[in-house]
Amino acid sequence: MAGSLISAFVKFNYQVFTQFMRKVFTTLTLVASVTAAVAQQKPAGPSQAPAGGAAAMGRGAAATSQPKPYKDVITDKAVSQSGLFTVHKIEDKWYFEIPDSIIGRDILVSTRYTKTAGGGTYGGEQVNVQTVRWEKGPSHTLFMKVLTIVNVAADSSQPIAQAVTNSNMDPIVSSFEIKTYGKGSDSTGTVVIDVTDFFKGDNQPVSLTPNIKRRFNLSGLAGDRSYIESIHTYPINTEIRTVKTFSASPAQPGIPGLVSSSLPSAEATGVVSLGLNSSFLLLPKTPMRKRLFDQRVGFFASDYTVYSDDQQKVDEQVFIHRWRLEPKDEDVEKWKRGELVEPKRQIVYYIDPATPKKWRPYLMAGINDWQAAFEKAGFKNAIIAKEWPENDKSMSLEDARFSVVRYFASDIENAYGPNVADPRSGEILESHIGWYHNVMKLLHDWYMVQTAAVDPRARHMKFDDSLMGSLIRFVSSHEVGHTLGLRHNMGSSSRTPV
Ligand SMILES: [Zn+2]
Repeated sequence: MAGSLISAFVKFNYQVFTQFMRKVFTTLTLVASVTAAVAQQKPAGPSQAPAGGAAAMGRGAAATSQPKPYKDVITDKAVSQSGLFTVHKIEDKWYFEIPDSIIGRDILVSTRYTKTAGGGTYGGEQVNVQTVRWEKGPSHTLFMKVLTIVNVAADSSQPIAQAVTNSNMDPIVSSFEIKTYGKGSDSTGTVVIDVTDFFKGDNQPVSLTPNIKRRFNLSGLAGDRSYIESIHTYPINTEIRTVKTFSASPAQPGIPGLVSSSLPSAEATGVVSLGLNSSFLLLPKTPMRKRLFDQRVGFFASDYTVYSDDQQKVDEQVFIHRWRLEPKDEDVEKWKRGELVEPKRQIVYYIDPATPKKWRPYLMAGINDWQAAFEKAGFKNAIIAKEWPENDKSMSLEDARFSVVRYFASDIENAYGPNVADPRSGEILESHIGWYHNVMKLLHDWYMVQTAAVDPRARHMKFDDSLMGSLIRFVSSHEVGHTLGLRHNMGSSSRTPV
């Protein structure tokens, strides 16, 4: 997962240690980020998750039947929506109609839980991120490939580029029969595939990773209790919601929690049902220009190993994660003159509607506090907090177009700020901040211990709302800082700047 500072550490703690140890360790994570910062140096997305183990579709590459005329496949019964992929539903079958212009393009697939079965994971948390590409195969098949490569050639015309290509093949994770060929709205060609079994099944790019399964002792998918809830499609993304049920066994006896942990429903019933949402988000055709990492500034970063004929040593190219902030075309001159302008696209954070109402203004203030930082770069209102528009049924909290502060009913005393970045450029695409309800306990204890000698407001077991609100604002701002690409500042302070 790209750019998550605290999350990896929290999950590790939760699943590896007992309840008691978890509380001790998670308390530390707001201050102890070295481990997470090191983890951050690992490449994002495609470099991280070998997807070769994804379940096959159960047949060879060749299609078993020939494509039929369009109207015989997409019949009058089809309920259709147009978007990144045109989606057709015919009775209990789901079809994607994919324009030729999208075949070969890089697509980010981000899978999140919508509902979990307890055990320290929460609806809204990231399960899996991959970068995939559609590719036409032999005999009317369409392949889905996952990009796993971190070795690149500086110049594709140099001989060494062939050596890079020869040893870095991306896995074909699924093969689909092309059911029919059609015509898109721009009169380019389209291909139609049946995606029902792919999304209902346990295919790694849109399901749990092996590590998650190991952690919770999950095994086979129960097909009769797994289904597609809905598919919605929009201009740059297609959203698939599923319910998946797995067989599950309780954790092995031994050191509690050290190998794996049990989910409450696994203990009670031997099965675990989960809600998942996979977002297929089209990445920009031309990746954003990279900004190279500088040791002196603590940004999260991805890296590639770069080969070229002229080298006498292999290069590591490390590039930071950052949002794409650009002035609007009509404002470029003003911006260059040093006038403050609004960016083409604001960074918008929505507040989870599950958030207690009295804390929302403080969470929002912590987000808006970052506006001043962007003013130094010539942008006003670059980042803004908004309430989630609960009446807008075209939006969902897990949709990869939106950044959300998710509120978790949890006794974990922490919060975390990850980001999902374009693995090719480091462009931050979205973030889902994880906010545990019980972070307030941590804030209370910190503030009491550190300030009670001088601040009478800190001498209470329950703080008044305005004090707790200020502390929430501080954590909100802190986590948003991580999602803007910033690590903990280990190198300087207000007294000793670097
Ligand atoms: Zn932090």
